[in-house]
Amino acid sequence: MAISSDSSKQPLITKTLIKCMSCDYSIERDFQEGDFVPKLVGTCPKDGGKLYIAGIYAIKLQPQQAKR
Ligand SMILES: [Zn+2]
Repeated sequence: MAISSDSSKQPLITKTLIKCMSCDYSIERDFQEGDFVPKLVGTCPKDGGKLYIAGIYAIKLQPQQAKR
């Protein structure tokens, strides 16, 4: 059980990948509560197509980025 406390030393941020249904437009933003695949999240700025959430994933923060 002591192992679980060690994992908190590695900060994770969750990202959401959004894609357009009708063209190759895609954008990545921070995960927001309520996000899921394949939720519709708006319209494409390029061609007005529907944007949907294509993926949700966690990435590790690098120590250098955490320092200010
Ligand atoms: Zn589009």
